[in-house]
Order: sequence, then C-alpha cells, then structure tokens
Amino acid sequence: MDKVDIIVIGAGAVGLAIGAAVADKDKELYILEKEEVYGQGTSSRNSEVIHAGIYYPSNTLKADLCVKANPMIYDICEKNKVPYKRCGKLIVANGEAEVKQLEGIIKHAQSIGARDLEMIDKDRIHELEPNVKADAAILSPTTGIMDAHGLMDHYHREARRKAGSDPVVLDTEVTGIKQTKDGYIVEMISGGEPFEIQSQVVINSAGLYADKIAAMTGIDIDKEGYRIHWSKGEYFSLTGKPPAEMLIYPPPPQDAASLGIHSVPDLTGRLKFGPNAFYVDDINYAVESEKEPFWRDVVKYFPTVKLEDLHPEMSGIRAKLQGPGDPVRDFVIRHEEDKGLPGFINLVGIESPGLTSSPAIAEMVAGMVKEYMD
Ligand SMILES: Cc1cc2nc3c(=O)[nH]c(=O)nc-3n(C[C@H](O)[C@H](O)[C@H](O)COP(=O)(O)OP(=O)(O)OC[C@H]3O[C@@H](n4cnc5c(N)ncnc54)[C@H](O)[C@@H]3O)c2cc1C
Repeated sequence: MDKVDIIVIGAGAVGLAIGAAVADKDKELYILEKEEVYGQGTSSRNSEVIHAGIYYPSNTLKADLCVKANPMIYDICEKNKVPYKRCGKLIVANGEAEVKQLEGIIKHAQSIGARDLEMIDKDRIHELEPNVKADAAILSPTTGIMDAHGLMDHYHREARRKAGSDPVVLDTEVTGIKQTKDGYIVEMISGGEPFEIQSQVVINSAGLYADKIAAMTGIDIDKEGYRIHWSKGEYFSLTGKPPAEMLIYPPPPQDAASLGIHSVPDLTGRLKFGPNAFYVDDINYAVESEKEPFWRDVVKYFPTVKLEDLHPEMSGIRAKLQGPGDPVRDFVIRHEEDKGLPGFINLVGIESPGLTSSPAIAEMVAGMVKEYMD
C-alpha cells in the first residue's frame, strides 16, 4: 500500500488552496478529486465575487477569514495574472426602512473590519451608476470580481511547483476512511479500480459531500452539527448592454438565506442576476424557477430592465450547515484531535464567502498541519 504524508480530499478552490499551502518537496501529498477535471463543484458555480466581509456575524471565521483574504486575493490575482476587476459594489436602499437597514449594516461591517465603506446619497449614486434607482447606498470599493478558474489554476500551479510533481489525482472518489495507529487508510475508487493509501494527515475539503466524508471517520454528524443542507441558487442573464458596471445588491433579506437578488457583472462584460435560495434534496443544476419574481426584485433598483431580457443562465448549490429556519452557522474548520482523530482536519459548511476566503482558509489549515507534524 502507498504511504503518504498528507491527503486532501476534494480539488475545489479550497482543497487546491490548501494543497498549495501545505505542498513541500519533503512531503508526499495527494489531492484526491472524484471528477475528471478539478474545480467542477461549487467553485465553478458561483458569483465569483471578491467579498469585502460586510454581513457576517462578529467573531466568526466567515467574517475574520473574508476580511483577511480580500487583499490577499487581489494580491494573488495581480501577481499571477489571474483576471479580476476591482469594480466595487453598491448596497442600495429604497425607502426609509431600507435606509435604516443600511445604517445598521455599515456599522456592523465596520465593527468586523470591512475596509473603506462609505454611505453615499442619491446624487453620488447617480454620478457612479446613473441607471440605478436608490435613495442611499453603501459603497464598498474593495468588492470586486475574479476568474474562479484562473484562481484555481494558480493554486494548482503553486501546489505542483512546491511539491515538485503534480499532487492532484483525478477520477478518484474517496469511499471510506479507517483509522490506524499512525494515521488513516483512505479507501478510494480510482479510474474504476479500488485502492487504499495510508496517510498521516487527512484534510476533508469535499464541499457538498464534506459531511459524508466526516461520517466515514465515525463522527456523528447530527450530534456534531456537521450535516450539510443543500441550498440551490439560480441566475438569470440579461441580454443587451449592462445597466451598471458595479455590483448592485439590495439590502439582504431578513431570513439571511442569501444576500438577495443582485447584479453580477462578469469579466467578459455580461451581466447576470441572482442567486435565489431554496433547499433541495438532490444535485440538479437546471434553472427551474420562474423569472418574474427575479425581475420584480431587480426592477426595484434597475427600473429599465425588461422581463423579456432575462434568460435562465446557471445555478450553484450551497453547502449550508443551517437547515430551513435555523440560525446562521459559521464555517467548521477543525483539527479533530479532541474527537480522537489526530491528524484529521474537517472543513464543513464552506459556503459563501468560501471562494474569497480560500487563501486565508488555506493559511489556517497549513498552520494546523505544521503544528501537528512538526
Ligand atoms: C450560488 C453560489 C454563489 C456563490 N458566490 C460566491 C461569491 O460570489 N464569492 C465567494 O467568495 N463565494 C461564493 N460562493 C461560495 C463558494 O463558491 C464556495 O464557498 C467555494 O467554491 C467552496 O469551495 P470548495 O473547494 O469547498 O468546494 P467545491 O468547489 O465543491 O469542491 C469540493 C470538491 O470535492 C470533490 N469531492 C466531493 N466528494 C468527494 C469524494 N468522495 N472523493 C473525492 N472528491 C470529492 C468534488 O467533486 C469537488 O470538486 C457561492 C456559492 C454558491 C452556491
């Protein structure tokens, strides 16, 4: 049986970022991915927004890692030719109640460290984005968009360079994990054949299936609050000239299930609106919702957008730890030594802002690995 030092399960943006952070010529590393190409899960089905860290509750990993990672992402993109645009974002308010909501949001965002936020009035909004209808807005100049695949390709190159060979193993699905006296035997089906590999450290970064991987170690995922609830988010694209270059968001809905239907420019100059949010039991990426409810949300801040110009575009699925009606949950990023699993690190519930936070998550996990192995 092959023996290695570190196995990362899942080659999405987070698993690849971790791979890049832990890779070392003196350590044997595998990043196992069930699909034939990496990054085909949630990491390629999202808004590709570089978040500033505005809404997340205080003292959470979501807030701390997002605020920390925002400048890291710009730095990575700049230095490694990953396409990005610091387009900025407006959270717009119409009516007194929404303006009041914005005052609460900016106060909270500043308290958790979000940078350079400013409350702006109608005239300034008109100067910046003349097609936007709003009484007031929060301007977030550090919010932007990136090419998620470009970011993942960068992490992959980094992992390969630091490891001295390519650590990503595709078409390899982890099917079981057995604890031994010096680590774990990871069971897998690779290229249709069963295999086992022994590893000292195992990092579970399996996105939508991270709860199933955690359960393979004997963890009771219901008792620990690790069960993932899938929440689908759909997008509609707009034909014709985009009415704004910045990201335009409404104030977030009270149920905290999503950030509200917002505009998402991409790097090719196209615009989509979304995502909505509803819980699902299976993975099906078809866009099935009616477009009219989307359009009703959009015309509140873009009154010129026409219903007939919206078209079903794509969807993604969130790995949420909170089920319907539950309070907001934080990321779980844990070395499970205290559960009798030394060297086993779980990443569960890595929903938004997971893409933005990926370099800071990777740094955190690399710290856990170093502390354990040294
Ligand atoms: C609609 C939507 C919009 C979003 N918008 C944003 C945004 O604008 N900005 C932002 O920062 N974040 C956003 N996010 C969140 C972001 O996309 C995720 O946090 C991030 O992509 C998670 O990356 P990951 O690597 O954990 O998961 P994934 O990309 O899902 O990767 C997990 C990988 O594990 C593999 N895998 C699973 N099981 C196994 C197994 N048994 N064996 C081997 N491999 C396995 C999968 O095939 C997959 O490739 C959004 C998410 C959604 C759904």
